[in-house]
Amino acid sequence: MEEWKQQLQNSINTLDRLKSIINVTPEEEKAITTLGTKWGTSPYFASLMDRDDPNCPIRRQVLPSMAEKVNQYGIDDYLIWKENREDVRPDSIARQYRDRVAFTVTQVCVNYCRHCFRKELVVDGDLQLRMDVEEGLAWIREHKEIRDVLITGGDPFVLSDEKIEYIIRKLREINHLEMIRFGTRAPIVLPQRITSGLQKILEVYHRVPIWINTQCNHPKEITDQTAEAVFKLLKCGINVGNQAVLLKGINDDIETFKELHQKLLRVRIRPYYLFYCEPAPGIDHFRTPVEKGAELIRDAIRGHTTGLAQPMYVIATNIGKIPLMPDYYICEKNEKEYTLKNYEGITTRWPNIPE
Ligand code: SF4
Repeated sequence: MEEWKQQLQNSINTLDRLKSIINVTPEEEKAITTLGTKWGTSPYFASLMDRDDPNCPIRRQVLPSMAEKVNQYGIDDYLIWKENREDVRPDSIARQYRDRVAFTVTQVCVNYCRHCFRKELVVDGDLQLRMDVEEGLAWIREHKEIRDVLITGGDPFVLSDEKIEYIIRKLREINHLEMIRFGTRAPIVLPQRITSGLQKILEVYHRVPIWINTQCNHPKEITDQTAEAVFKLLKCGINVGNQAVLLKGINDDIETFKELHQKLLRVRIRPYYLFYCEPAPGIDHFRTPVEKGAELIRDAIRGHTTGLAQPMYVIATNIGKIPLMPDYYICEKNEKEYTLKNYEGITTRWPNIPE
């Protein structure tokens, strides 16, 4: 059996298996045994957890916490509201923009991230949707304005090679499609998934390119195996971007944030987005003030390191993504000139050109 399948088969999703890897705290055990929430991860990702520290950034993303019972700021029925699901469409199609959609093809994940904005659907199972691939394909075929499809889940890379090949092939038969994207945490939580079989499926040249965005939130998640998986994807002509989530106590300090984005570039992953942690129910404990992400980009990245390391900070809302980048650089403006400030607080002047 291929290694990635063994990893999934031996998923760390029982207390006994977990106890063979880390020293589980009474608080963690209580959350696992009383919350009734889906949890689990691959043995590979679990091996990156600190054995003793419950504040380990990977452990906090993997293990349920009693804090998930608190919901002061989360929005009930969040996903229905966020993905405009009152509109008549197949369950598998989420739409916020005219020319692109998210196509949800599975509810299964490798790692059931505690901060997931799709928690109601993927983790808690409060929301039941019908993930009918054929229905989704038919809808995309009929909507000629759609030029870009994001295949998402769950994690679409838990599907078999055959299923992935089928979805790509069917989408590529649709003339109005210009690009296909995958949203998958596989390069981070299951790098073994990038097999030569999958490479063969992905590397076929076609006018419709494939892009991949993954999610990595802490430098500890990046290993030699991550680097190898990403390199294999690049060899197939596929660029890999990162969509980090801003998580309190995990990546909201300057040093970690900078190291994360530098390390992503070291393994050839291009930082793409930094998402504000969305107001899905039960994840208040991961959320920072909204300004935090812009402050981190200002204080850790912009001017402080390679420009390619800079993600776009956004809030993903029901009306689309709203950028929230730092806004410190125009100090003054008059008819003749601007006064501009750099990352060190030093100012300079720049001519103001009339329209
Ligand atoms: S992999 Fe994505 S969809 Fe799955 S639990 Fe994590 S954030 Fe949610």
